[in-house]
Order: sequence, then structure tokens, then C-alpha cells
Amino acid sequence: QAKQKSGLWAVRFTQELSVEEQTRRRLKADLKNAIATEQFSLHYQGQYHMCSRTLAGFECLVRWQHPQLGLISPQLFIPLAEESGSIVELGEWILREACRQARAWNLAELGLSISVNVSPLEFSQADFVARVQAALNDFGLSGHGLTLEVTEGMVHRDIEGGVTVSHQLRCLGVQVAMDDFGTGYSSLNVLKEFPLEELKIDRAFLKDLHSNHPDYTRTRHLMGTIINLAHILELQVVAEGVETEEQCEILQELGCDKVQGYWLAKPAPAHEVEALLRGGPPHPKADRAS
Ligand code: C2E
Ligand code: MG
Ligand code: MG
Ligand code: MG
Repeated sequence: QAKQKSGLWAVRFTQELSVEEQTRRRLKADLKNAIATEQFSLHYQGQYHMCSRTLAGFECLVRWQHPQLGLISPQLFIPLAEESGSIVELGEWILREACRQARAWNLAELGLSISVNVSPLEFSQADFVARVQAALNDFGLSGHGLTLEVTEGMVHRDIEGGVTVSHQLRCLGVQVAMDDFGTGYSSLNVLKEFPLEELKIDRAFLKDLHSNHPDYTRTRHLMGTIINLAHILELQVVAEGVETEEQCEILQELGCDKVQGYWLAKPAPAHEVEALLRGGPPHPKADRAS
């Protein structure tokens, strides 16, 4: 009878939940078998060398095609996967899929790297480094072609543990990048102590970086200072969310090393990247003309 009672409670409780909360709960539950039923895929966004504007590599961005609800943004489901813990299994799938694809495209031979986003919870798993090593071994890759993007949240979770893991990754040749820099609350000390190779400046800084914006001068100085600071710490700087040619030129003047954003390339599914790597027709019209 106690069971029946709690069941009734659950029903009443559900009725009082907001639509958003119900959706969140449903998605959280659906995440559990979404890997087994192949609902995830990766999109790839080019990262470009600043000076030559040539391709340096790709960032992998996960996509969830829900059978009933359609395409769900990672901004919505990654936090849910973190809360429920499914991120650990999902993260491993993402890492292995990225490695499989890097092998299939021979990215190492082309001198291109692959960047994979890693959640704080994944990074703090005791066997995380072993999983990375296994993925590299299984697909015959060296660590040098792999960059792991971590966020400031990870650092605050357990700085000492994070520093150790990052050192171990470095021993595998893997690069670690600090993603979304400037949006969290990292102290400069963290940047100094944490073994990193790359700093990715959050796109929030780019939105005021155009010459007719009232706050342009200050934003430009701030951006230049972040880039100089990163260089003092011997970090490569990647600017995210570059949407105009002007932003790209300003970033070049400020000494930024790499750029990523819609102006250069949007995230694209594997088959589109494949055409690009094969040097195939850049536009479907070219196909029809021949
Ligand atoms: P992020 O790692 O900072 O990825 C960059 C996000 O900015 C991507 O959104 C990308 O599509 C978007 N973006 C790139 N260029 C531009 C631009 O020029 N303008 C604008 N407005 N946006 C741009 P996306 O794919 O929706 O991913 C959002 C966030 O979700 C990511 O931010 C990352 O934190 C998380 N995420 C995505 N894929 C993964 C993953 O495989 N694992 C984990 N743990 N997190 C992921
Ligand atoms: Mg990222
Ligand atoms: Mg970012
Ligand atoms: Mg982000």
C-alpha cells in the first residue's frame, strides 16, 4: 500500500511540474539508451591558422537526433547528461568516434588535429587517461593529433587532480585547451599552474569586436591583453565565434594564433567534411555543371 501511495504522489507531483522541467526529465531518461540506438553523431568545425588562413584541424561537436523531439542542442542536453552521469558513457563514445573518424580521414598524415570537448565529470574519472590511451591505441593514433577542450569548471572541481591528469595527458602527447576562457572565474594562478597548450577565448568577447561598436577600443585592448598574457604563458590562442572578416583582421593584428567561427566554417556533418578533404566540389552547383 505504501508503494501505491508514493505512486500517487509521483503523479500529482508531475502534474505540477512546468513543461520545461518535464522535458528535462524526459530527455534525461531518454539519454540512457540514446547511445545504444545510435541517436548521436558528431559535427566538425574547422579551426584555421591565423596567418595562412589554412585548415589546422577540427573541433568535434556532438548532435542528438531525438526520434520524437528532433534535433536537441548540446547546450540543453550536455548539462542534463552531466547531472545524470550519462556524460561519462556519452563522452567515451564521442572520444572514440572522433578518433575513429580522425583515422578514417588520415588527419595525422594531413597535419590536421582533432579537438574533443570533455566535461568536468569525465575528466575526474579515475580511468580517464586510460580511456584516452585506449582510444588512441585502438585507432592507431598518436596523442599529438588530439586536443582535449576542458572548461574552467573542471579546474575548480579539483585543481590538484586536474593538474595530475593534465600532466599524464601531456605524457601521451595530447594537448589540453582551456575552452570558453573569460566566462568563468579562473584566477590567473590557475592558468599558470595548470598544464595547458591552448587558450580558447569565448565568443562573448568577440561580439563587441568591430570598429563601429561604441565599446570597440576597450574591447580591442582587452582582447590584445588576453592574447599577450596567453603568449607569456606559452599558450596558443584560439578565438571562437569569429563571424566577420573585420574581426578576423583585428585578431590577426593582435597576434591571435588560430580562428574558428561561422565566417570561416560552420560545424558540418562528416560527409560534408569528407568532400572538403577530398577537394571535391565546394558547392553542389559545380556538380550539375559538369
Ligand atoms: P563550445 O565547445 O564552446 O563550442 C562552440 C560552440 O559555438 C558550438 O555550439 C558551435 O557551433 C558554436 N559556434 C561556432 N562558431 C560560431 C560562430 O561564429 N557564432 C556563433 N554564434 N556560434 C558559433 P554547439 O555545437 O551548439 O555546442 C555548444 C556547447 O556544447 C559547446 O561549446 C560545448 O560546451 C558543448 N558541447 C558540444 N559538443 C560537445 C561534446 O562532444 N562534449 C561535451 N562535453 N560538450 C560538448
Ligand atoms: Mg569547445
Ligand atoms: Mg567554447
Ligand atoms: Mg561552451
